[in-house]
Amino acid sequence: MTKRPWFQWVSLGHSVIEVQYSKGHLLDTMKKEDVKKLVGNPKFISGIYNYCDRWCERCPLTSRCMNFALANEQFAGQETRDISNEMFWQKLAETFQVTLDLLKEAAEREGIDLASLDIEEVVEEERLNRELAENHQCCRAAKVYAEMVDNWFDSVRDLFEEKEDELNSGVRIDLPKADPAGIAASFEDAVQVILWYHHQIHIKLMRAIRGRMEEELDLLEEFSKDSDGSAKVALIAIDRSMAAWGEIRNHFVVREHVSRDMLGHLDRLRRMVGKVFPAARSFIRPGFDKIDLNS
Ligand code: SF4
Repeated sequence: MTKRPWFQWVSLGHSVIEVQYSKGHLLDTMKKEDVKKLVGNPKFISGIYNYCDRWCERCPLTSRCMNFALANEQFAGQETRDISNEMFWQKLAETFQVTLDLLKEAAEREGIDLASLDIEEVVEEERLNRELAENHQCCRAAKVYAEMVDNWFDSVRDLFEEKEDELNSGVRIDLPKADPAGIAASFEDAVQVILWYHHQIHIKLMRAIRGRMEEELDLLEEFSKDSDGSAKVALIAIDRSMAAWGEIRNHFVVREHVSRDMLGHLDRLRRMVGKVFPAARSFIRPGFDKIDLNS
């Protein structure tokens, strides 16, 4: 199974550097020059990872993504889970130093004096923006959806086991025209899709709403907006989740009303987001909506 990169990108204007984290384990540290070399490689589509769903295992453009390449470079041939704690912290310190150097370089290029930034003011502004975004109708509805999904999966554990038994016995009996293995696979896919996106919809909408607030201060109307890009990723996640719920409904007749509620809620959310971000669907995501910006 491909290991999923878990990056946070720090950007200063057009300069991008990376701070690298992994879920539960540390990545090996790359040298600053190696990172720069990768950044300059023309095979990568610039900014592709900004509007993706971070589902690298299912991504059709891993070969064009620097984020993915960095992760594999780091992981290659290593059992990073087995790295000792001492090495873990040592490498984290090295990564921090590389990150700091790159941050300073980027700030210099952009003419930003890092020391002059008023952190308290920035933190307070961030807090206010986050609060406003959290109270936006789209974000509230997305959060409710995530909770509905968590509750639903908690409540159907027993039914999942029954379903598994049912499919297993179907495989054993080998019923004519039945395809229990195929059903099991599509069921599993649907569950994965729902679980992958249920919190991400909220996260992307938070980013979209907060981005919208910042963009309102800009007067560059003619440029495509980051908020539309984030809203588009959320909309795609909603569409895919709805399709997955449709699949689940085929298998869980008993709880049909629950999945119907999910579909109803997602449909309302989809229309709400469409109204708030009317340009989102036409936003061009690098790589995904346009073949290649570098060729
Ligand atoms: S573009 Fe694809 S490979 Fe790159 S981070 Fe996003 S999902 Fe992963």
